[in-house]
Amino acid sequence: MSSASVNGRDVEQCPPEPLPGRGAAVAVVVAHPDDESLWAGGLLLSHPEWRVFVAALCRRSDPDRAPKFYLALKRLGADGAMGDLDDGPQQRPLSEVEVASQVLALLPAGVYDLVMTHSPRGEYTRHRRHEETARAVLRLWREGTLHAKALLAFAYEDGGGAYLPRAEDRASLTLPLPDPVWAEKRRIITDIYGFQEGSWEVRTVPRREAFWRAGVSGEKEFQAREAAAHP
Ligand SMILES: [Zn+2]
Repeated sequence: MSSASVNGRDVEQCPPEPLPGRGAAVAVVVAHPDDESLWAGGLLLSHPEWRVFVAALCRRSDPDRAPKFYLALKRLGADGAMGDLDDGPQQRPLSEVEVASQVLALLPAGVYDLVMTHSPRGEYTRHRRHEETARAVLRLWREGTLHAKALLAFAYEDGGGAYLPRAEDRASLTLPLPDPVWAEKRRIITDIYGFQEGSWEVRTVPRREAFWRAGVSGEKEFQAREAAAHP
């Protein structure tokens, strides 16, 4: 059996791993405060035994959103830090170098058992910062600057805006959330972040979470998503 090398690792020696266990160091890198809860909140709530650090790259000086982020992290059992990348309505493109250095500045140094971030294609149509965040994290991970044993990218799509974001059926990992977990995640969005009933965020809160596993299983799918990403 030939051994394709993916991310410097041998595929045959590296079968799809289960999620990391007790005490695992997990980093979640998102563009905005609320992305961690919307796209991965159920997974995080289901693993209180992990040591989780969430880096949100934008909105540190947002007097409304910043304190809510830290309250949400408390509920998720996570630590975290925020950056202040431009997040203006024009969505001015940011350089990969700028985004990557913000990621490195926020994340505590060390080896992570798992890193989670956006999909290079984003989760809906369309927020450029999500895609830029994904590309920067993937690049840091593939070049070995960000040390992580596994990388998961959020796997959601909205049919080009035709419907609310939903978990991708073909994702490497899909997690239907038990009702109490989904309800708790939804409360973070409504009670902590303060989104109104009927808002896009509250209507979106996925009942099923999904992730692409980069580097090992799901790599082909994942690369297809990357190739399809917006320039
Ligand atoms: Zn966002």
